[in-house]
Amino acid sequence: MFDDRRENYIQRALYDFEMVLREQVDRADKMKDGGFYHCCDINKGITVGLAGGDGIGPVIMSQAEKLLEKLLHEEIKSGKFTIKKIEGLTIENRKALGKSVPDDVLAEIKECDVLLKGPTTTPKGGKLESANVTLRRELDLYANIRPVSVPSEGIDWTFFRENTEGEYALGSRGIEIPGRLTMDFKVTTELGTRRIARAAFDFAKANGKNRVAIVTKANIMKKTDGMFSEICHEVAAEYPGIEAEDWYVDIMAANLLNKDIRNQFQVFILPNLYGDIITDEAAEIQGGVGTAGSENLGDKYAMFEAIHGSAPRMVEEGLAEYANPSSIFKAAEMMLRQIGFTDKADKLSKALHICCEEEKKLVVNGTSEGAKCSEFADYVMSKL
Ligand code: NAD
Repeated sequence: MFDDRRENYIQRALYDFEMVLREQVDRADKMKDGGFYHCCDINKGITVGLAGGDGIGPVIMSQAEKLLEKLLHEEIKSGKFTIKKIEGLTIENRKALGKSVPDDVLAEIKECDVLLKGPTTTPKGGKLESANVTLRRELDLYANIRPVSVPSEGIDWTFFRENTEGEYALGSRGIEIPGRLTMDFKVTTELGTRRIARAAFDFAKANGKNRVAIVTKANIMKKTDGMFSEICHEVAAEYPGIEAEDWYVDIMAANLLNKDIRNQFQVFILPNLYGDIITDEAAEIQGGVGTAGSENLGDKYAMFEAIHGSAPRMVEEGLAEYANPSSIFKAAEMMLRQIGFTDKADKLSKALHICCEEEKKLVVNGTSEGAKCSEFADYVMSKL
């Protein structure tokens, strides 16, 4: 039976692969070596979209909304800062419509100056693409910037994860020969690599950093990671005084656990998948994924979010109200800084520092033994 169909399967897979390849070459043709996301004009008024997502998303997002309302009370009153709630980015709605990001939701997001987004569930297998992968592609949010710091250990890391390529670009477009094999694809473009490398080196230069780690598996993934590393080094040559070092992702995962050397790392550039995994590890060193925020930047749009997911296990176990809001608060701080409300971002950063580093009167650990999300959020807001 299989033998009869074998040639058909192969021909069909070849056709699918040709389509994928042509699309990706078209994408690379159209890619611009543009600038980087610049702040909006705060004098014209800023509209911030808030999309709660699903799972623990709405729990942490409702606290982020309260926090923004408190912190920007005057600006909201005067129309300088507008909050626009965006519904419809829930797994229920996305599944019902068979769309990872429904068209009306995407249109609403594009109307906002920036988006603060809660985590969104992606079902295992099936055809529904991750909402994040879709948003990052549709808004061309190529730089995922994830800071992690542990002041007591001298750790101050900034990760630049490439956000639109690698395994994620084609993760829902793999091919299958039924009963025999499955194959997924990984794609890296020259310009896609150059722009994330430039974002990382520009950041290093602007912030007095002199070491950038390029994290790949170029010894095994010779084409994609090989080119990623090569181009990062080409870009590095434009930044004298900043040392660019190659590291393989497996040893970097070990290095982050090595207390003797880990605080010497400063800035990291990583392809999409390694960036996803290594930054969860880094966040765990900081105190858990619930403590880490991130920004997703492109030339035109910007999206800010927690680094973690929708935590369905916490929801199933009735622990959603114990989710840590620090992650989305840190994302909100990054957003305020990016759009030009620097004094507000500083205020929030100081409040978080008092609650998470200095006083630690309440600790959220995701269990009923820790503080509730709302209690910790009130604690932070009391320090603004
Ligand atoms: P997860 O990050 O959702 O949760 C893993 C565990 O981390 C939780 O069980 C919990 O113990 C802890 N945790 C996460 N957030 C926390 C918080 N704020 N406070 C306290 N503890 C917290 O990872 P997962 O279970 O692998 O993924 C669940 C779903 O989320 C999947 O469908 C996945 O695709 C999706 N996801 C979405 C995003 C996003 O929207 N940006 C990111 C990652 C995963």
